[in-house]
Amino acid sequence: GKRVILASRPHGEPTAANFKIEDYAPPVPGDGQVLLRTIWLSLDPYMRGRMADGPSYAAPVPVGGVMEGGTVSEVIASNNPGFAKGDIVLSRAGWQTHALSDGKGLAKIDPKIAPVSTAVGVLGMPGMTAYTGLLEIGKPQAGETVVVAAASGAVGSAVGQIAKIKGARAVGIAGGKDKCAYVKNELGFDDCLDHRDPNLAAKLKEACPKGIDVYFENVGGAVFDAVFPLLNAFARIPVCGLIAHYNDTEAHAPKWAGAMMRNILTKRLTFRGFIVSDFAAMHGDFLRDMSQWVREGKVKHKEFVTEGLDRAPEAFMGLLKGANFGKQLVRVGPD
Ligand code: NDP
Repeated sequence: GKRVILASRPHGEPTAANFKIEDYAPPVPGDGQVLLRTIWLSLDPYMRGRMADGPSYAAPVPVGGVMEGGTVSEVIASNNPGFAKGDIVLSRAGWQTHALSDGKGLAKIDPKIAPVSTAVGVLGMPGMTAYTGLLEIGKPQAGETVVVAAASGAVGSAVGQIAKIKGARAVGIAGGKDKCAYVKNELGFDDCLDHRDPNLAAKLKEACPKGIDVYFENVGGAVFDAVFPLLNAFARIPVCGLIAHYNDTEAHAPKWAGAMMRNILTKRLTFRGFIVSDFAAMHGDFLRDMSQWVREGKVKHKEFVTEGLDRAPEAFMGLLKGANFGKQLVRVGPD
């Protein structure tokens, strides 16, 4: 087997030196255990947080430990009555070709319902993040304007399409022409702007003539600066991610914190941070609605596949900078 371990903690942007690829002997399952073979490894921005040891909602990966991650895996040997050889399961096996499990936390995936990779994408954690954050915190109403960045990505693409299903106007922000064209033409957002455009603030104002009622925060940085002045009274801001800041090496007090607080007061804004697991109770509703929307073509999704576990570090470093176009997956082994 092969695995990727955290060789050292990054300072700023992660580099190849922070990862090490090792060979290891695939483990032998004991009593009650199953042996898993990884098919798909999901790469997600939160992994940048696991590489650091600052205060967080989750424990860091120890230096020398296997990088954490969600996988779609096949049971290749089972000493557990709940699982049979050949079962496909959602697991947190991490960045490795083989892993043991006692069955806790594994969920079987039915390959007849959808391609199994969707279990870590549109029908998995990122889709659930979009669904819960938008509907529980954003609460978009028909005719309102919803803005989301990283709009071609796993979470953002679903946010805008769900906003459309709810009758809202969806404006995306994404990196570059191709992503913006896809977001408008394929995903059906009403508009999409490039966050690297020096005139982003002016263009966003034009694209949102009635202001912004829901801003689904995925990035922070320059996008937030452009959005903030356009927020309407009683706007809702689900704070999902701040990818523009994950490599920051120091915390900056915002220059305009005073003005921000004044606006939160006078416009009665609701900012609420969330972690998808906060809404675990909505998993059934999510699966029912999202599977239907995907089947009906109302929610489309795109996968961005990197071949081979060896290339996982490079793919992850790319994900933080927008090199991915769609949900970032690593194909670790055959389907
Ligand atoms: P994506 O598939 O959207 O990939 C990340 C994208 O972020 C990149 O492709 C890039 O797209 C964009 N990006 C990177 N840097 C910047 C920047 N400086 N300014 C604007 N955009 C940038 O990832 P996900 O859909 O998996 O995640 C999206 C967000 O949701 C992340 O912030 C993530 O941490 C968060 N998240 C939060 C969860 C929670 O429970 N709270 C759960 C899952 C995800 P582009 O080329 O368009 O710039």
